[in-house]
Amino acid sequence: MAVTDAETTTDKDEALVLEKIDKLLAEFDPKTTDAAEFLGAQFDAGLAWVHFPEGNGGLGLSPKLQVLINSRLAAAGAPSAYYRNPIGHGMSAPTLVVHGSEDQKQRYLRPLFTGEEIWCQLFSEPGAGSDVAGLSSRAVKDGDEWIVNGQKVWTTLAHLSRYGTLVVRTDPEQPKHKGLTHFVVDMHAPGVEVRPLRQATGEAEFNEVYFTDVRIPDSERLGEVGEGWRVALTTLMNERVSIGGAVPPQGSGPIAEAVRLWKSKGLTDLARKDKLMKLWIEAEVNRLTNIRASQNRKVGTPGPEGSVGKLSFAETNKRIYEYVVELLGAEGMLYGSYEMKRSEGVMGADTLQKSFIRSRANSIEGGTSEVMRNILGERVLGLPGDIRVDKDLPWSKVPRS
Ligand SMILES: Cc1cc2nc3c(=O)[nH]c(=O)nc-3n(C[C@H](O)[C@H](O)[C@H](O)COP(=O)(O)OP(=O)(O)OC[C@H]3O[C@@H](n4cnc5c(N)ncnc54)[C@H](O)[C@@H]3O)c2cc1C
Repeated sequence: MAVTDAETTTDKDEALVLEKIDKLLAEFDPKTTDAAEFLGAQFDAGLAWVHFPEGNGGLGLSPKLQVLINSRLAAAGAPSAYYRNPIGHGMSAPTLVVHGSEDQKQRYLRPLFTGEEIWCQLFSEPGAGSDVAGLSSRAVKDGDEWIVNGQKVWTTLAHLSRYGTLVVRTDPEQPKHKGLTHFVVDMHAPGVEVRPLRQATGEAEFNEVYFTDVRIPDSERLGEVGEGWRVALTTLMNERVSIGGAVPPQGSGPIAEAVRLWKSKGLTDLARKDKLMKLWIEAEVNRLTNIRASQNRKVGTPGPEGSVGKLSFAETNKRIYEYVVELLGAEGMLYGSYEMKRSEGVMGADTLQKSFIRSRANSIEGGTSEVMRNILGERVLGLPGDIRVDKDLPWSKVPRS
């Protein structure tokens, strides 16, 4: 078979990446190197986000090579940047690299990747979740600064965060999508108040965040004034892939727990075995679909296909843990402690019962399953759009409670 230019380039890129992985592992043994130091070296080698530009943690290569990097490094026992800083890694960094100034990229990306500075995403508000473009938090310009007032909600890991990406309204006389602006906010600035919100699991992974006359320098703006929705879309597209686009080894993760439980119970009935097989196939189809999506992704920011992975991850995960609780029988009701804990990470689950309760949030966080179906219907299948009565009205004229 003739080798095309594209194949030659891919082979060359892959060889370069493999060489860099070997060098990184030879110079920084993950078993003896401090996690932040290892991740710093990974960033400097351009293996953090391989599709980012050189000098920003990448090599400017195809994002599909990241799957290879991640699996090689994980096999060698390297720390995971994602688990140390999930929102920062999956959402803030891809937003910073596309919309940030060179100063912002140089200042923020490396400590974000190493987990020395945790990030959060400040989008949702009490009156604006699915319809996040309808948000009310305001920023008003004052010289070289902006003054922010308002409230955000469900802000994951805000209590640990050093910085956040914040979207606020800067022009209420524009239609809702056009009057927004995006900023990097210092979570330690005067006027930022973080209060825990307790989840059904008993823990508080997320928070309410109040802004009272918080000053943000104009140099911390991401993108142009009034272009905040465009910036937010970069975050949201990446969020869906970050939540639902993982490519774990075959048969691992939640489905492995279901199989392990099935075996440990010595069950033989065909009805429950059939159900287990169907769930296994579903998990495998999701995995293969995500592999195909990552192979097809030629540029950094994912398209609406990210909603496929997010939707199927959420629904499959919920079904697997429902099945697990069914197998547990009465034991499924034994929860342990509901003692209030401030989570150090996300989706942490030390018991099957807790995983079941946490999985209920999968079809809400990062956009609900109904909203994912709307995106698929409109943007992938080309079906008629949702009814949007307020799309062209100035935000200030839209009735709200
Ligand atoms: C665990 C967790 C972590 C989160 N972390 C963050 C975070 O870090 N940062 C952040 O900004 N937000 C975060 N969120 C918030 C999340 O993005 C919102 O909860 C979500 O977008 C839904 O918004 P809402 O809760 O306001 O529900 P609503 O938008 O009020 O939706 C209520 C119901 O109506 C349905 N619905 C709404 N609109 C439509 C429509 N057009 N068509 C069909 N059905 C519709 C929804 O599917 C849902 O069932 C988190 C949420 C959870 C559960």
